[in-house]
Amino acid sequence: MDIVVTETKLQPWSGDVIVTDIKLMQHNRRMQRGYWKRKPRVSVSFEGETILEHLENRRSRPIKLLRRVCEETLDSLGVKKSMVEFRWSQKAGCNCGCSPGFIVEGYDPVIDGKDVFVTIRA
Ligand SMILES: [Zn+2]
Repeated sequence: MDIVVTETKLQPWSGDVIVTDIKLMQHNRRMQRGYWKRKPRVSVSFEGETILEHLENRRSRPIKLLRRVCEETLDSLGVKKSMVEFRWSQKAGCNCGCSPGFIVEGYDPVIDGKDVFVTIRA
């Protein structure tokens, strides 16, 4: 996947976390083809978290918070709320379950054919 947009935004968050980085990655051609066209994914990672901690935490994510981060991030990118829904999936990023995230259902041109990587700081 190639990075098409790199944005770093320090947004004052309404609650408890700050979004420190948003990256959009373009799906490769194979992923965009035909019936198996990959749906956009949104994954949220915690700044400073080591890979080991990530693996330990992967099944105990505060999904409500992550959903809010996901919604507000896409909103800030200009994705129309009425056009998309987010489905939490333990296997969003990888079939082995190491990279949970949201799968985007619906269509919006801003994220079509892309995955979104959000970094937050608590
Ligand atoms: Zn995996």
